[in-house]
Amino acid sequence: MDFLEKKVEELKSAGIYRELPINDTPIDAIIELNHKKVINLCSNNYLGFANHPRLIEASKKALDDYGVGSGAVRTIVGNMRIHEELEDKIAKFKKEEAALVYQSGFLCNLGVIQAVTTDKDLIVSDELNHASIIDGVKLSKADKAVFKHSDMFDLERILKEKRDQYEQVLIITDGVFSMDGDLAKLPEIVRLAKKYNALTYVDDAHGSGVLGEQGRGTVDHFHLHGQVDFIIGTLSKAIGVVGGYVCGSKAMKAYLLHRSRPHLFSTSMQPSAAAAIIEAFTMLESSNEYTLKLWDNARYLKSGLQKMGFDIGHSETPITPIMIGDEVKTMAFSKRLLDNGVYVSGIIFPTVQKGKGRIRLMVSALHTKAILDEALNIIEKTAKEMQIL
Ligand code: PMP
Repeated sequence: MDFLEKKVEELKSAGIYRELPINDTPIDAIIELNHKKVINLCSNNYLGFANHPRLIEASKKALDDYGVGSGAVRTIVGNMRIHEELEDKIAKFKKEEAALVYQSGFLCNLGVIQAVTTDKDLIVSDELNHASIIDGVKLSKADKAVFKHSDMFDLERILKEKRDQYEQVLIITDGVFSMDGDLAKLPEIVRLAKKYNALTYVDDAHGSGVLGEQGRGTVDHFHLHGQVDFIIGTLSKAIGVVGGYVCGSKAMKAYLLHRSRPHLFSTSMQPSAAAAIIEAFTMLESSNEYTLKLWDNARYLKSGLQKMGFDIGHSETPITPIMIGDEVKTMAFSKRLLDNGVYVSGIIFPTVQKGKGRIRLMVSALHTKAILDEALNIIEKTAKEMQIL
């Protein structure tokens, strides 16, 4: 194992090895990290569902009804009634014909992209798409082309040049880009897909539960129901549990159940998770109180940071970056913030381009204004100490 020890040493000397802090509490606005209370501004628990009593109750009941595991892959005996109920629930909420659940959002991108493309196809992917899309594209036998981030001229240039050489063309984009919080230009992507007879694929991991009517996502936000072929979501962020899903046609679901490798070779979702997720969608269906609170908090935090003079980029969603630039300074800032009681993510190359280091704040519906004020004070004080402000 010397070769791995050497690699770990390399990470350490490059300053990118992380000693992971240990959390002893449920995901909330304040958590106990390494035995110290800190304000949590870095989880994806947008709506506060990860520790919601209604989800916990539903999950406990499913433990009694179904046990802790599903026993096998979906295509053998791991197809429980609760999985079917969950998929019907998601399809209805997303206003799509069908939904298929995966064990994670990451696996969903791997499993869907590979299964729906062949060596006669072309995938055209935004350069800032999530790592799971990049890996899904690598697994596919299709040819690949990357367009400049949200650059519709570049996308059209590729489609014009290459469309005729392939059977199918699949355009893939994130709905919300997770490092900057900007939205894909979905209406324009759909228009180009129609013009060049291409399929569309949107990963809405950060849009579902956040954007659109009652959190129905980016496709709903742009009123594009029925016009996107594959809509991906995660069940681990706004929904607060774990898992991923793809929405689309009934034929899509039927085919993927037979040909998407995570369904053939990986045990299906634990029933207690499925039950908690069903409860989360029931809550979203009946009230937009959580989504409104999230947006209210996001606006409050952003305006506080702007008043202090921070550059917070051009996010259109609750994702809130504070642009720093220099990598070493970024990591030192996030570390000092943690020492001072605010936990945020420091994000540097290769997650973002070199020189575009930033800290990323993830606010949730759980934060109170008093907690946000305290966080803002600590952020300002720390930035002044470090001559960032
Ligand atoms: N897609 C995007 C855009 C994401 O941000 C993430 C989570 N980081 C995923 C997919 C993976 O989702 P999961 O955590 O459910 O595997």
